[in-house]
Amino acid sequence: MIPAEFDYVAPASLDEALTALREGGEDAKILAGGHSLIPLMKLRLAAPTLLVDLRRVPGLDSISRDNGTIRFGSMVRHHAVATGGFGLPSMAAATIADQQVRNAGTIGGTLAHGDPASDMPAILLLHEGSVVVRGAAGEREIMAADLFQDYLTTAIGEDEILTEVRIPALDGYGFGYHKFNRRQEDWAMVAVAAAVKLSGGVVEDVRIGLTHMSSVPLRATASEDALRGKPATPENIAAAAELAAEGTEPPADLNASQDYKRHLARVLTRRALQDASQ
Ligand SMILES: Cc1cc2nc3c(=O)[nH]c(=O)nc-3n(C[C@H](O)[C@H](O)[C@H](O)COP(=O)(O)OP(=O)(O)OC[C@H]3O[C@@H](n4cnc5c(N)ncnc54)[C@H](O)[C@@H]3O)c2cc1C
Repeated sequence: MIPAEFDYVAPASLDEALTALREGGEDAKILAGGHSLIPLMKLRLAAPTLLVDLRRVPGLDSISRDNGTIRFGSMVRHHAVATGGFGLPSMAAATIADQQVRNAGTIGGTLAHGDPASDMPAILLLHEGSVVVRGAAGEREIMAADLFQDYLTTAIGEDEILTEVRIPALDGYGFGYHKFNRRQEDWAMVAVAAAVKLSGGVVEDVRIGLTHMSSVPLRATASEDALRGKPATPENIAAAAELAAEGTEPPADLNASQDYKRHLARVLTRRALQDASQ
């Protein structure tokens, strides 16, 4: 399908991009990798009148580490995250679609889009990370727990640009990531990320992130509470994983009923916890 007509600008600085976005009004949209926005435009589910392309804005594609926190510029591509050795962010990014999508799609784009089937939102939530956004009023930091508000809805304002993603590295943790889809390279039917910190075989800390078990990413807090402070035995892991779907309202769709998704959450949580406890 062919998108509706739109204007296009490719500013050379962040300030110019912010001005273009503001002057474009409510129908102006940021274009990052284009791998969510352009398909929506082709289906005419989105019809922005102006696209503000970030690809010529310098300084948005760097990765650095500062006091145990990894800072990703918003235009860092999925491929760079997948191959950078960043623990869970790398494990999850490596499962995003195919190489072509990973070469174009960006970490900022996927978080700003807020698709509940996307891999990175639950990773940001599990790490208790944040995003930095710039707007006319200046810069502000939004914690992951406040970022994702509903299906395709985030706390980022229409006139704001996500510039940086901050992810605490969780040094000393083991990690597991399990994603279930019908065809390899599809979005997750359900995905589970786990991070476990062991001390003498006992679970000192555990974090579990659930993808596609709600209109926003979730933490499996009942499972976390059940396992924290206990030896990381297969029995304790299995018992904790049984609680993974507690309190969830997963969206049913053509691929899976709510019950099936809850079953997947329990099975994938057990597997992710086992991997993270090695
Ligand atoms: C075939 C296919 C399979 C895919 N499979 C998966 C998958 O398995 N898992 C997965 O997680 N994703 C998947 N994706 C989506 C992919 O990860 C996209 O790259 C990502 O969702 C959006 O990133 P983008 O950089 O392409 O953003 P764009 O498409 O350019 O933008 C998406 C939205 O975010 C806004 N936006 C982008 N950047 C910013 C910014 N810096 N500040 C403010 N707003 C911004 C845009 O205005 C737009 O509304 C798939 C995509 C395709 C085409």
